[in-house]
Amino acid sequence: MKGFAMLSIGKVGWIEKEKPAPGPFDAIVRPLAVAPCTSDIHTVFEGAIGERHNMILGHEAVGEVVEVGSEVKDFKPGDRVVVPAITPDWRTSEVQRGYHQHSGGMLAGWKFSNVKDGVFGEFFHVNDADMNLAHLPKEIPLEAAVMIPDMMTTGFHGAELANIKLGDTVCVIGIGPVGLMSVAGANHLGAGRIFAVGSRKHCCDIALEYGATDIINYKNGDIVEQILKATDGKGVDKVVIAGGDVHTFAQAVKMIKPGSDIGNVNYLGEGDNIDIPRSEWGVGMGHKHIHGGLCPGGRLRMERLIDLVFYKRVDPSKLVTHVFRGFDNIEKAFMLMKDKPKDLIKPVVILA
Ligand code: NAD
Ligand code: ZN
Repeated sequence: MKGFAMLSIGKVGWIEKEKPAPGPFDAIVRPLAVAPCTSDIHTVFEGAIGERHNMILGHEAVGEVVEVGSEVKDFKPGDRVVVPAITPDWRTSEVQRGYHQHSGGMLAGWKFSNVKDGVFGEFFHVNDADMNLAHLPKEIPLEAAVMIPDMMTTGFHGAELANIKLGDTVCVIGIGPVGLMSVAGANHLGAGRIFAVGSRKHCCDIALEYGATDIINYKNGDIVEQILKATDGKGVDKVVIAGGDVHTFAQAVKMIKPGSDIGNVNYLGEGDNIDIPRSEWGVGMGHKHIHGGLCPGGRLRMERLIDLVFYKRVDPSKLVTHVFRGFDNIEKAFMLMKDKPKDLIKPVVILA
C-alpha cells in the first residue's frame, strides 16, 4: 500500500509499505477523510519527537473499517468510524490513574505518526478497536467529522484544563483551529466574557461566531496590558493557551487573577525552561495553577464530541478553509499546513 511519510527530519515523500494486519482486538481502517495537523509539521520540520524513518504521517482521520480481529465485538467491515488521534492501551496503570493520554509512558497514548504509522496510508491499524473507535453517524459530513479526532478534543481540552466555570472571564491565546475550538469549548462550559487573542481577520470572525465577546490583536501591543485595560485592571479568571511560544506562559500568568487556572495545549518547542514571572505568580503563593495536557482520545470521548456535532451544538466545519479530493492531494494539504497562508485555518482531504 501507498503512504505519505516522514522519510527523516526535514524530509517527506511517498513510500510503499505492507498493508497492516489486525491483532485479535484491533481493526484495519481505510481513511475516508484526513487532515494534517500542526503537530505533523513540528514532527517533520522541527524534529519535535526526534528522528523517524519512513513513518507514515497523520493522526486525524475518519474512515471505513475493512478488517477486524477475532475479539472485536462492536465494529465490522463497512462501518464508518471516527478514529481518535490518541489511541491508548487501556490495560495500563496510567489509565487507572486517570491519564489515558500517557498509557505506557509520557505521551505514549499518541501512537499514530509518533510511534507507529499514521493515517495518511491507504490503510492503517487501530489498536483495541472496541475501546478506541466510535461509530460515525451518516448525517455528519466528512469535513466536519474529521475535525473531531484532534481539533475538537484538543481545543475543548484546553478549556477543560483551564477549569472554566459559569460566568468566568476567559482569555484564549492563539486562535488557529485548536484555539478556535477552545473558544467554542469555553463558551460551552459557561464562560461569561471570552477574549480571543489573534490577528487574522478570518480567524477573528470565526472566534466571534464560536462565542468570543472581545478580540485582542497581539500585533497591537502587549496583550497583558490590553487585557488589564479591558478589565479595569482586574485581569481574567482563566486562560487557555493554544498558540504563541514559551513567553506566552509569562503573559498568561500576568493576566490571571489569584486563584485561577491556565490550560495549555500548545506545543512548546524552544529552550530548556519556561519562565514563570515570580512576582505575578504571587512569589510562589498566588494560587495560579498551570495545567498542560495532551488531548483525550478513546471511544467515549469521541462519542461525546460526536453528540456535540450531531445535535448541532458545535459546527466544527467552520474551521475547514481548504478541501481537497483524492489520495495524492494529501501532500498538497500537508505542504499548505507547513506554509500556513493567511487564509488557511484547516485543510481537509476527502478520500471517499
Ligand atoms: P496554528 O499554528 O494553526 O495556530 C496557532 C495560532 O496562534 C496561529 O494563528 C498564530 O498566528 C497564533 N499566534 C502565534 N503567536 C501568537 C501570540 N504570541 N499570541 C497569540 N497568538 C499567536 O496551530 P493549531 O493547529 O491551532 O495548533 C495549536 C498548537 O496546539 C500547536 O502548537 C499544536 O502543535 C498544538 N497541538 C496540541 C495538541 C495537544 O494534544 N495538546 C493537539 C493538536 C495540536
Ligand atoms: Zn494533532
